[in-house]
Amino acid sequence: MLLQLKSLFLGETECLPIDCAIDLSGVEWNGLYPFHDVTVKGQIKFSAGVVTLRATVQYRYVGVCDRCTREVNRMQQLQMEHILVVSLNHEDNDSFVLLENYQLPLDALVEEDLILDQPSKVLCSDECRGLCPLCGKDLNEGSCDCRHETVDPRLAALQQLLD
Ligand SMILES: [Zn+2]
Ligand SMILES: [Zn+2]
Repeated sequence: MLLQLKSLFLGETECLPIDCAIDLSGVEWNGLYPFHDVTVKGQIKFSAGVVTLRATVQYRYVGVCDRCTREVNRMQQLQMEHILVVSLNHEDNDSFVLLENYQLPLDALVEEDLILDQPSKVLCSDECRGLCPLCGKDLNEGSCDCRHETVDPRLAALQQLLD
């Protein structure tokens, strides 16, 4: 989706609302295609000579928990904010988005921001207990019968002395 922003840069328009759906179902991340039902709502504004994009991206993340391998399927959102420029003169700032011919490829920008926003580990919940390393049981469903040696190392050292 290519947005034409020339009239904003020329000051003929002050605000361009964004309210659209974009298809990122073909974007691979971490070996999965997790981004679905992506919508972008916000605006691009011309104010005091600066063109700023502010938008909220809503999407459904479909993947698996990195700890227990259950399916993760939930709505998530992300705030985007960028200053759009048509030339980089003296400032070479990473937060600026350089446009070619006053055109913004919105889907490419959203894709980049979504990927940058992903955590290194995706969990089904912050309290996920994961799988037993011995028998593989999902510990969210209850404990298993394996013996988990979780002896405090300080106590272990004391135990050695006593032995
Ligand atoms: Zn989990
Ligand atoms: Zn077990």
